[in-house]
This record gives sequence, C-alpha cells and structure tokens, in this order.
Amino acid sequence: MSAVDNAARGLARRTTEAAEAADDQPSMLALWRNSELSSQAQRQQRDRHRAAQFHAATQHLPLALAFNALAVVLAQPLPWASPAWRWAWTLILTVLLSLNLGLWWRFTRPGLARRLPPRLPVLMASSVALIGALYGLGSAHLLPGLGEGERLLLVAVAAAFCAIGAWLHAALPQMGLAWSLAFGGGAVLGLLVNRESHPTPGGALLALLCLVFTAFLAFMVLQTARQFMAGLRQADEIERQRGMLDLVLRDFEAHASDWLWEINAEGQLQHISVHLTRATGLPGSSLLGQFFLDVLHSLQPQPTPPEAAVALSRLNHALRQPKPFTAHVMPWQLNGETRWWSLKAQPLYDEDGQWEGWRGVASDVTAVHRREAELRQWAMYDSLTGLANRHHLMQELAQCLPQEGAARACALLLMDLDNFKTVNDSLGHSAGDELLKTVAERLLPHVPTGALLARLGGDEFALLVTSEPERAAAEALAERLREALALPIPVMGRRIDLRVSLGAAFAPNDARTPEDLLRAADLAMYAAKNAGRDRLRCFEPGLARDAERRLVLAAELRRALERHQLHNVYQPKFNLATGALVGFEALVRWQHPQRGTVSPSNFIPLAEETGMVLVIGERVLHQACQEAVRWPEALSVAVNVSAAQVEHGDLVEVVRAALQKHGLAANRLVLELTESAFLTKRDVVLAQLLRLRELGVHLALDDFGTGYSSLAYLQTLPLNQLKIDRSFVVALSADPPDPKATAIVAAIVALADGIGASTTAEGLDTRTQVERLRMLGCEQGQGHGLGRPIAASEARALIDRLAAAGARANTP
Ligand code: C2E
Ligand code: MG
Ligand code: MG
Repeated sequence: MSAVDNAARGLARRTTEAAEAADDQPSMLALWRNSELSSQAQRQQRDRHRAAQFHAATQHLPLALAFNALAVVLAQPLPWASPAWRWAWTLILTVLLSLNLGLWWRFTRPGLARRLPPRLPVLMASSVALIGALYGLGSAHLLPGLGEGERLLLVAVAAAFCAIGAWLHAALPQMGLAWSLAFGGGAVLGLLVNRESHPTPGGALLALLCLVFTAFLAFMVLQTARQFMAGLRQADEIERQRGMLDLVLRDFEAHASDWLWEINAEGQLQHISVHLTRATGLPGSSLLGQFFLDVLHSLQPQPTPPEAAVALSRLNHALRQPKPFTAHVMPWQLNGETRWWSLKAQPLYDEDGQWEGWRGVASDVTAVHRREAELRQWAMYDSLTGLANRHHLMQELAQCLPQEGAARACALLLMDLDNFKTVNDSLGHSAGDELLKTVAERLLPHVPTGALLARLGGDEFALLVTSEPERAAAEALAERLREALALPIPVMGRRIDLRVSLGAAFAPNDARTPEDLLRAADLAMYAAKNAGRDRLRCFEPGLARDAERRLVLAAELRRALERHQLHNVYQPKFNLATGALVGFEALVRWQHPQRGTVSPSNFIPLAEETGMVLVIGERVLHQACQEAVRWPEALSVAVNVSAAQVEHGDLVEVVRAALQKHGLAANRLVLELTESAFLTKRDVVLAQLLRLRELGVHLALDDFGTGYSSLAYLQTLPLNQLKIDRSFVVALSADPPDPKATAIVAAIVALADGIGASTTAEGLDTRTQVERLRMLGCEQGQGHGLGRPIAASEARALIDRLAAAGARANTP
C-alpha cells in the first residue's frame, strides 16, 4: 500500500472519528447549521452553474449582433407592405439589439468577473424572445411580396438564422427556447394574420413546417442544455476530487514522516514541502528549481558509501525514462548523522499526455536499514568475538573454490583450544566467554592482510589465507599463532595456560570444494590432537583413511560389545622390597575375529569418543571383581577408569553394585585414573572420589608426571597411590641413569609420601630398573620384566605357583 493510500486512510479515519465524536453529542443547532451550510453550498453551486450557462449562451453575442445588424440593413430594400412596418420593425429591432449589446458589455464581456444580477437571464431571454418574434413576424410579412425564388431564399435564410440563434443560446435553455419559440411563433403568427390580406402561396403548409421546425429546435435546445449541465456537473466532480486529493496530500505532508517531492522533466524541484526542507536541512527558497540529483549528491556522506553511489546512478538512470520506480534507498548526511531514505515515484503527464516530470514520496527507512545492517552483522559475524562466523567463512571459501571456474589457491588453518572445556566447566561460561574474547584479540594482530579469521563455534577458530598459501608460510603462521596464545591468559583472577591444536589443509591440492577443505583441515586438527595436542598437523591423504578406519573400527567395536568379544588380562604387581605378589592390574583386550588381539590404546580413545567406554568400563570392572574374589585376600585388583566414566556421575553406584554382586571387599579394589579425569567437572569428580573412598575403594593416579595440569589438586584428591609413568622408568635403565629422570622419580616418591600415598612404577623391564626404583623408595612395580599381562586362568596359576613357591621357601 502506498504512503498516499495510508495518508488517505488516516484522513478517512480521522474524519470518521470526528463524525463519531459529533455523533456523540447531536444537537438540533448542529443539524440546522449543517443543513444551512449544505443549502448555502447548493446555492453557490447553482449560481456558479447559472453564470457558466449565461456566459456560454452569450459568449458570441457581439458576433451575433453584428450579423443582426447586417440582416437589418439587408432587409431595408426588401418589398415591405408598408413603410410604417419597415420603420417600426427596424426601430424596435435596433433598440433591442442595442439593449442586448449594452447588457453584454455591462455584465458578461470577457475579463469581467461580476456577479450576475438574478434577473439578468430573464431580461436577456425576454429581449432575445422579442428579437426572435420580430424576425419571425418580419419574414412572414415580407413573404407575400416576393417572387418564388426569393421566397425560398428568405425561408432558408430565416430557418438558418433561427437554428443558429437557438444553437448559440442553447447553454441557457431559457434564452435558446425564448429565441426559437418566439422566432417560430412570430413567423406562424405573421403567416396566419396575413392569410386574408396578403396571402403567401403555400402559407398554411409553411406555417405547419414552421411549427414542426420550431418544436424540433426547442427539443434540440433542451438536449444541448442538458448536455451542457452534465458537463458542468462533471467539471464540478473533477474539481471536488482534486480538492479532496489536495486535502489528502496536505494531510499526508502534515502528519507523515514521509514527504512528497516533485520535479520537472529536467529534474528540477517543483514542490518544496516542509518535510523536504527538514530532511535536507536546506531552506525551501534555495531548493526550489534546484536539480534534485545535485541536491542528493551534495547531501552524501564523505566518502560516499558504495551502495549510495550505486543508488544515485540507478536513480539518475530511472529519472531519464517515464517509468514508475520504487525503493531507491540511499543515505544522506544531516547534522552529522547519516539517515537512509527510500525514494519512489510516478511520472507526471500534462493534458496532452506529454511527460512533464515526476512526483514521488521519500520515506525515512533509517531504522529498517540499521536493523538490516545488524541482521547482516549477526548473520555474518560471531556476536561474542566480533570475528567472522562459520557462514561467513564458508562464503569466502566458496569464492576461493567456486563450483564452476578456476579455484584460487588458499590455505585453511583450524584451531582448537586444548583445555578450553576445563575452563568452561570449572570457572563457568562467562569465564569461558572472556577467554574466547581474549583469544580472538591475541590472534587478530597475527592475521595476514587479506586473510579471514573466523570463530566456527565453541573453542574452534579458523583462518583462511589466500595471499601466500604455501605449506612453509602456513607453518610459520601457525607457530606465530601458538606463540600468541603461549602466555597465560588472566581470567577471573586466574591465569589460564592455553594450548592450541592446529590443522592445516591446502586447496586445490588437498580439496576442491569448501566442505572438503574444511573436512581436511578438521582431520589434520584431529590428528594434531591425537598426536599429543599443542601442535600443527598438515593434512595428508592418510588422515582421511585413518578417519575412515576409525569409523569402521567404531562400528566393529559396537558389534564386538554385542558379541562379548572383550575380555580382561591381568598384569601382576609386586612389592619391590620383598618381591611378593601384591595384586594385578586388569587390562582389557579385544579379541577381533580377523585382526586378532587389539590393544586398548587403539580402541579406548575411540570408545571414549563414542561413549562406549561406559559399557566397556562396567564390564571390565565386573569381570575383575569376579576374578579377584577367587584370589587370596591379600591380593588387590586394579581397574582402569576413563575420565568419561567419572564425569558421567554414576561411577560410585556402578562400583558398589559390582562389589556387592561379586562379594569383593572394597579395599581390594584399586581404581586407576589419569589426570584427564580432573580436568573437567572438577566438583562432580571430587565428590565421587570422596564417596568411593568412603566405600573403602583405593584410588591410584595413573601415568603420573605426563599430564599438564597443576599439582594443586593433589592436596584435595583422596589418593592412595601414584603410578610413576613408564617414560621415567625407561630413562632409569641407562648407565649411568638419567639424572633428570632419577630426580623426578625421587620427587614423585617424596610427593607421594607427603600426601600419604604409595608409589607403583610402571613398565619395569629390567633388573636394573627394579633395583634403582627400589633404591629410590618406590614400593611396588609392574612391567614386562616382572610379568606380562596374562589371561585370568594364567593369573590364577601364577598365584598358585607363587603360593607353592612361598610355602616351599617357608618349609623348614
Ligand atoms: P595403563 O593403565 O598405564 O596400563 C599399562 C600399560 O602398559 C598396558 O598397556 C600394559 O600392557 C603396558 N605395559 C606394562 N608393562 C610394560 C612394559 O614393561 N613395557 C611396555 N612396553 N608396556 C608395558 P595396555 O594394556 O595396552 O593398555 C594401555 C592403556 O590402555 C592402559 O594404560 C590404560 O590407560 C588403557 N586401558 C587398558 N585397559 C583399560 C580399561 O579396562 N579401561 C580403561 N578405561 N582403560 C584401559
Ligand atoms: Mg593403568
Ligand atoms: Mg599407566
């Protein structure tokens, strides 16, 4: 709906409201005033119409009078019956013609805008009737004295004279009728009166014809008058509608924020409204006659925004041809503020249908424009960091790697913060947000010109490089990005050590479509994470195969679980001082029908990713408890627990159920956790560990020394055992032993002592290692050198064997 329509509706509404308000208090006085007003308007209209009729009926009066005068002169030599007749006829006619000329001159001559006296039409009609009657009578009087040919001529001239007069005065039917009836009546009367004294040959027939002709003329006069009145009423209606339109437009200009503009075909402003002067900030006097496009140019912000330049040139083009146009949106500057206007217009035509300019409406669309800009911003940018979002990145990628046409070389670096989840879980989401913002701020200065840094969601960032997308440059860039994040980031009073895993892929070598490139970079990043995090990996075709293999493996593992193809093996643990067997560590094995035995290192991470580790962990626990119950009471069983199991929240119940079901004493069960279990949901994990300790279950920290979190948690965790990682143990086998490893092991032993925990060394392979660890104070050990992981039955056989050997040794 157009703005004018809206304004018209507004006006109609206000009029209705006013009418309704008036309806509320109807008074006789108001009704009387209304009727008085309407009758006054009707009177005015009637006067106007009468004046128009009168002017139309008398406009050719001077010409007609000139013809009359000619007729009077020409009639003088004709054979009048008596000179008295001629003189009387000529005199009266001259007087009447002079009177008519006088009236015309006094009241209706051109350029005179006088109010007509109400009697004037009657006066004119009377004098015209007298003139007509004189002509009729005169013609009838002359006929008997004329020859046949002359008679015919006179009759023809008189009929034409009568018809022309009737036609000239037809706009005012009184005058037209007065003329034609008096003319015809006069002729008939003359013919009848002279019938005896001066008979006209064929006079009776002529009188009859004259009557018919007069009746026809009277009918035509009435018809013409009716048409003339209809034309007047139509003109009135047009005038009324124009007035209404003016009213609507004035109302529109007064009440709407939109404004009208009007220019001629040359483009110069013709109509200056208050709103236009307000919208441009220029005085109306300086605007009138100005070229509209020049005014718009002068109002452009500097530098002119590209969309404004485009809109101006489109408008310039549109104004050259008379076709309606809409929605030319452009900005202009007013009092230092940029506002946006939408212009639409219709071509204007003059009465001859010639195109004479434009009339249009300008609407302030600043709010809509701003909202659209915000929406665009939201659609393309990440609201937290202000970086580009995934959608934006994919659009840029699509430009580099179009579906059709040549691909541009580009490199995509994906970054994933290694321990972001920890911050989010332990410090809350606002801390996580703060961290992400700082990460974006730190990365931005290292973004090369023309490259696009985006946040894809969560802790995943991407950098699209198009300028120098070679591998060496990408590696150097990745190094700079890692360094940018290397310094601890202060968040909520803490200093967070962030590490980042990066994956890089290159187009068109590694991928030819945006989706494939993203997938390739993702696989590379996944590989970087798997390879120990905090590093860059570039995509290789092998990674895609690995990913595929992982998918296949996940499906197979699910099937293996259904078919119970997983079982436990048990690695013995010994007291390093006495050499006594202290227990076993249960280690899960997957008996694959084709691949043979699959190591947990290959499938536990996958099981953790897919959630299958919950089922696997529970089954391992049940098997281990079931087995350990058969062992001597002094022997413990250690079961590995994944972080996912602890985070899930029902580990305590699972353990309690297993112990109960198999009747194993809680203090014979050791749960081995790695540091990754304490990285997230610290509160949930701690609460569970405390409840497990309350149950009597022992807790060991596996692979101690390889993690990256602080030692602070050792204070709060209820640990019974620290397991020294195999990497330190291996370093002890050299000769001389690695001093650093020695120092670390000694420190771990001291630390364990300090928190009331024992130590177990993993991966003991040689006697030297055993000896050195014993010397360093480590209490227990396990490893291939002491005993490989073995089947449950073999473990039982080992126990029996050792028990028998012990009995033999004790036998005196
Ligand atoms: P872990 O808990 O640290 O287990 C010790 C790993 O070191 C076992 O590997 C064991 O076979 C191996 N090992 C022991 N002594 C030696 C040695 O002298 N030399 C060498 N080269 N290796 C030795 P495995 O069984 O392949 O297990 C690997 C890891 O898989 C385990 O490390 C543990 O983190 C995980 N895992 C094993 N079973 C389970 C389970 O039931 N649940 C969960 N969540 N994780 C498990
Ligand atoms: Mg373990
Ligand atoms: Mg270990």
